[in-house]
Amino acid sequence: MEAAILRVRGLAAGYGPVHALSSVSLEVPDGAVTAVLGGNGAGKSTLLRAVSGTLRFQGGAITGGTIEFAGERLDGRNAAQIVAAGVVQVPEGRQVFARMSVADNLRAGALGARHGRRGEQEARDRVLGLFPVLAERAHQRAGLLSGGEQQMLAMGRALMARPRLLLLDEPSLGLAPMMAARIADTVREINDQGTAVLLVEQNAALALGLASRAVVLENGTVALSGTADELAASDEVRRRYLGVG
Ligand code: ATP
Repeated sequence: MEAAILRVRGLAAGYGPVHALSSVSLEVPDGAVTAVLGGNGAGKSTLLRAVSGTLRFQGGAITGGTIEFAGERLDGRNAAQIVAAGVVQVPEGRQVFARMSVADNLRAGALGARHGRRGEQEARDRVLGLFPVLAERAHQRAGLLSGGEQQMLAMGRALMARPRLLLLDEPSLGLAPMMAARIADTVREINDQGTAVLLVEQNAALALGLASRAVVLENGTVALSGTADELAASDEVRRRYLGVG
């Protein structure tokens, strides 16, 4: 296993009286895709929000534990500082700026990262190489794109900040199987280009096909973890998340 780029230790988080995560520990290797599986309400989105610093926008907070990225502590930092450190989240439901053009959505993604004009152009070239449809639709309002195109835009917007670690929350949600497969191919390509990915997915088959390692969250704690192959072979994962056996 490659060295970990992200280390979460003993993480606890919640929303006021609601305890969403307790004692969650996991490591995300650099340069790989790591998947987080689990049922509704298991705490998957909360984990990503804790890492990206966006938990407080949802009325939540980290209440214990540590999050370390590339040797630096992220817990206690705000979302803008975490983007600048190289960690960017694509939220569940895409959340593109619907009234803005595709091009302006991409521009907005570069704002917090401060890579300069040259860095922004390199990032845009990469994004349009991954998602040529975004170049074709550059001047359209983002709200008029299909669900799959909006997912591409949300991922493209995140990549404009040139993250070292991309956090993806349910990228295949609500997409037809062909489009979900296309998104999965792009996640693989993004990872092949050197960006580590932490992927939350309800579609366990898709996630285990992409990931080298995975964890299963249940009731806010890590119930299982291992290589994707180990989890795909586990009776519990097969029964509960893959719908076989
Ligand atoms: P889903 O796939 O349904 O989004 P999840 O595994 O991502 O599930 P979370 O969204 O992290 O789970 O939810 C974990 C727990 O925190 C649940 O009990 C949920 O009801 C609660 N929760 C999530 N968001 C909020 C919020 N903004 N305010 C209050 N409670 C919340």
